[in-house]
Amino acid sequence: MSKKWVYLSRSAGKELAETLGHEPALGEMKVILGGKGAGLATMTGIGLPVPPAFTITTEACVEYMRTGEFPEGMWEQTLEALKEIEAETGKKFGDPSNPLLVSVRSGARQSMPGMMDTVLNLGLNDETRAALAKLMENEWFSYDAYRRFITMFSDIVMDYSREHFEEKLEELKQKEGVRTDPEVSLEGMKALVEEYKAMYQEHFGEDFPTDPYKQLELAIKAVFDSWNGARAVAYRDHEGIPHDWGTAVNVQTMVFGNMGAESATGVAFTRDPATGKHEYLYGEFLINAQGEDVVAGIRTPQRITLAGSRAWAEGQGVPEEKRARLYPSLEEELPEIYGELLDVVDKLEDHYRDMQDLEFTIEDGKLWMLQTRTGKRTATSAAKIAVDLVEEGMISKEEAIMRVDPTYVDLLLRPSFDPKASKTQIAKGLNASPGAASGIAVFDAERAKARAAEGKDVILVRPETAPDDVPGMLASKGVLTQKGGATSHAAVVARGNNLPCVAGCEEISVDLARRQFTVGDVVIKEGDVISLDGFTGEVFTGTVPLIETEYATQTDLIQLLEWADEIRELGVRTNADYPEDARRARGFGAEGIGLCRTEHMFFDPRARDAVVKMILAETDEERQIALDEMLPFQEQDFEGVFEAMDGLPVIMRLIDPPMHEFLPSREELIEEVTQLKCTNPDSPELAEKEEMLQVVNALWEVNPMMGLRGCRAGIMYKGLTEMQTRAYFQAACRCTKQGIKVIPEVMIPLVGHVNELKLEREKLEAVAQQVMEEEGIEVEYMFGTMIEVPRAALTAAEIAEYADFFSFGTNDLTQMTFGYSRDDAEGKFLLKYVEGFDTGEVDSEGQPVKFQILEANPFQTLDQVGVGRLVKICVEEGKAADPDMEIGICGEHGGDPDSIDFCHRVGLDYVSCSPFRVPVARLAAAQATIQNNK
Ligand code: PEP
Ligand code: MG
Repeated sequence: MSKKWVYLSRSAGKELAETLGHEPALGEMKVILGGKGAGLATMTGIGLPVPPAFTITTEACVEYMRTGEFPEGMWEQTLEALKEIEAETGKKFGDPSNPLLVSVRSGARQSMPGMMDTVLNLGLNDETRAALAKLMENEWFSYDAYRRFITMFSDIVMDYSREHFEEKLEELKQKEGVRTDPEVSLEGMKALVEEYKAMYQEHFGEDFPTDPYKQLELAIKAVFDSWNGARAVAYRDHEGIPHDWGTAVNVQTMVFGNMGAESATGVAFTRDPATGKHEYLYGEFLINAQGEDVVAGIRTPQRITLAGSRAWAEGQGVPEEKRARLYPSLEEELPEIYGELLDVVDKLEDHYRDMQDLEFTIEDGKLWMLQTRTGKRTATSAAKIAVDLVEEGMISKEEAIMRVDPTYVDLLLRPSFDPKASKTQIAKGLNASPGAASGIAVFDAERAKARAAEGKDVILVRPETAPDDVPGMLASKGVLTQKGGATSHAAVVARGNNLPCVAGCEEISVDLARRQFTVGDVVIKEGDVISLDGFTGEVFTGTVPLIETEYATQTDLIQLLEWADEIRELGVRTNADYPEDARRARGFGAEGIGLCRTEHMFFDPRARDAVVKMILAETDEERQIALDEMLPFQEQDFEGVFEAMDGLPVIMRLIDPPMHEFLPSREELIEEVTQLKCTNPDSPELAEKEEMLQVVNALWEVNPMMGLRGCRAGIMYKGLTEMQTRAYFQAACRCTKQGIKVIPEVMIPLVGHVNELKLEREKLEAVAQQVMEEEGIEVEYMFGTMIEVPRAALTAAEIAEYADFFSFGTNDLTQMTFGYSRDDAEGKFLLKYVEGFDTGEVDSEGQPVKFQILEANPFQTLDQVGVGRLVKICVEEGKAADPDMEIGICGEHGGDPDSIDFCHRVGLDYVSCSPFRVPVARLAAAQATIQNNK
């Protein structure tokens, strides 16, 4: 017996259960029957009115694509299924007295709206048309159905564009002086059909096929072929749908929505797909129309419910007294059918336990269901529908959590561009920090602050950003950089502050001297308006309208995250440097600070002079004076952070970046000194600049990210980390005295050898003890280290001896494991590595085959194979050495859902991420628990 290629909708569920040995899940049904076929089988199975149908499987399509022919037995099975339908309907295919007409539709595993083909009214020829006229007692209708069929068949099956036919219909309407199709006269329709047949004859040199079986065979082939149509291929490329899935073909008994005033065709969502509200059916219908008329937009469709209709008409500005007359609802026009439709909707939602998107037809007062599928939705409605379904008792909290994509959470918290707005894209870079913003382009931080103070919305555009730019960044609505990647300074600061950022946009060329950037022929000067989409990395000219959102108003999201908190095993902390960030993150549900980058406090203009003095100091005394000046600024900020995190742990990371970052740029100094030597050689300014240049030169390193930074700076700069530790413990003791519960943890960065940690820890712990003695109060504390140098991960057992906790700094760990610079790699090669290289080969669909060196950007999604291996080794050895060892992650990966799943699996205690990613991490951590406990 040949393989089973064809399933009747009425028995597909049972037959698949027999083949699979269990009740098929929806996903399994879709793989074989496609989405539409699975929907038809399910609807038939639960007793809904579905016109008898059968489905030719996706596997048949795959075979057809391979060989160019129907697989063995498929056509015979199609004919058998057709017989079953004939028996069920009492009609016969091609019968001149009681003909069966069918629709032939594509239906892939995943919905590809409008991408593939449909032929309606198949089975018509002169004889069956005449029979249809008699049966329906409506001659006009029969000609209308016939001319539609000729148009669709010619267009879809024979590739003779429908435009030629539609042109003739338009001419006819003009000749008859009518506006809509149903107004065309019977004589006109008759003549049109004859004209269409003649056009076909002339174009192909043969008659329009009259044999319904030939029509069917060609239509099935056309649907199979449409899988590889240019539109469908492009859509799959965009959506990442595999090209080898194939489409199923659904052959279904025709029902007609265009049979008069008691007939209609419509579409509906069971809940509002934009807001998720469950108030009424969201959809529209057209009386006396066939499906394609709704999409064609020739007539204004009516709404389904009375309430929906009035609300819609109000939104359209229709005066109240005219609403009922102009836009009557289905509820008013066909109340019985409306009642039936409500029953169907209840049954479908009960069965699928999710919002559905359906198509229906009413044929002469009888409701028929043609399609159902899970409805696409916005981020807002995804959260609302998931929460509502739990409250309605339809799904569990776990299911609700699994139904919302964590990237939606990000969307819910950030403004985005109105998808309906028109835009002019000029460039694309890395989507470094989500959100969207429009504003005037400004090319330096100082001026950005000034223009923002004047009330302007500013987009700061820089070749790349440095700590000096932070105040200007914070005053801006968004940041665009030409260079730099996902962990570049611009990206990290932007994410921490909810600023949309497009980084590493190498297509643009920033000219600071001219205060402009160019991209191709386009020149954007300072003051010109541009728009950034941090979700996609796109840059546009002009303003694009925004849609704003706010956390406190997201009640459904808040509820969902509370459920997530009950389930997740990973803790969620935040990376926050200032009290304000800490408060915001706590509002988002952070359970402590996993990383406070203390050097950011040094960029505060109040502390800046003291920092420079400390670096320039020539004696221990001078340095100590500078450090004493710095201390109060640190202490003040620490107190603020402890206050914001009352009762929760706060990890203070000691200074990390190389010292030159606190001094003026070497290149600028050289330029200034050279200029002053020519123009003003005796000026005190020159002497001052020369002195500064000397210091900068002394600090200069070829490779500063691998240089004197992190614990190495702490060890080499006498007094610096001692001052930080003193400030931190003074703040801890003083806050405790005020009744604030502090949980201080000191983190030593960039340790690669246990002796670095031993030296720093012993020195700093002594400071901590001394401060507590001075303050006359004890606080419990921990000392730990970042694991961000591969050697540290590989020697975790040794390091554990001097660390109470580990926190993976996966930004540096990725940089050092791959040997990719986190600041330059993206623009130079990394994005290309991910996008892939043309191999010169094409696949079976004629698509270029690309070779990707990397599947994802390792600075955004943790490389589980390489970097992850180091993480695993380190966790195992660290926990073996000290089972109570607290282990977390504070690199950017701590806010990435895939990386969070990995963190759960390797047994970390918490993830720490920027404040705006805290809600994303809470949801992703719960999903990791559910997924891995299955
Ligand atoms: C890291 O390296 O992952 C980290 C969190 O530290 P930073 O980004 O400050 O180097
Ligand atoms: Mg680091």
